Amino acid sequence: MSSTEVGGRRRLVILGKQGAGKGTQAERLAHHYHVPRISTGDIFRAAVKEGTEAGRQAKGFMDAGDLVPDKVVVAVVGERLDEPDAEGFVLDGFPRNLVQAEALHGMLEPEGVDLVIELQVPKAMVLHRLAGRRVCVDCGTNYSLGRSRDDDETCDRCGGKVILREDDTETAISRRLELYEKETEPLVAWYMARDKLAPVDGVGSPDEVTARLLRAIDGRLGSRAQ
Ligand code: AMP
Repeated sequence: MSSTEVGGRRRLVILGKQGAGKGTQAERLAHHYHVPRISTGDIFRAAVKEGTEAGRQAKGFMDAGDLVPDKVVVAVVGERLDEPDAEGFVLDGFPRNLVQAEALHGMLEPEGVDLVIELQVPKAMVLHRLAGRRVCVDCGTNYSLGRSRDDDETCDRCGGKVILREDDTETAISRRLELYEKETEPLVAWYMARDKLAPVDGVGSPDEVTARLLRAIDGRLGSRAQ
């Protein structure tokens, strides 16, 4: 299927280190382009909570900050992309390595995704942000201590409990950043070689970054499908 055949629905991927603001920005882009945000991290957290087979397979890897095996992740994403609302999407947290990028390409042949955004934020800044990150256990909304809220334990959106993520411990964070550099960063060159990459500066207020992202995406793909 080409993106024209599916009515111009955007098929986007957002890459960036943990704490770069990917989740927040992916949510905003999904809303703007009327497509679902598909976050593999959220899918696995929900699966762990529900105690499904995928959840049981993923939990140990997630708690250690390691990557869930490709086979499990690719199967989960394949199923999600087969759902009728996923003609367009913003993928957040997938692909995370070359095997996954190739698998995604295979699922979307011949064109693959429309554009891959690399949200660029210096490492020192993501470490600072991760230390203050909190998440709603029910709807997955991210909060940032001192920026979007005080140390309040209730989600503004759904009333769920707002907690520190289990994998936001210092050891798991450094493991995830190390894996990002080793496994995910090579995707930047992979997508650049396919003329699909749009690097965007992720430093600034959430509104400033969103405006930058929309300019970059519409500049590359045109402003259809809004
Ligand atoms: P995230 O919310 O994207 O930081 O994901 C949380 C955790 O879920 C990661 O640390 C991994 O253990 C697992 N995970 C999410 N997406 C993937 C993926 N594409 N490949 C492997 N593991 C993943």
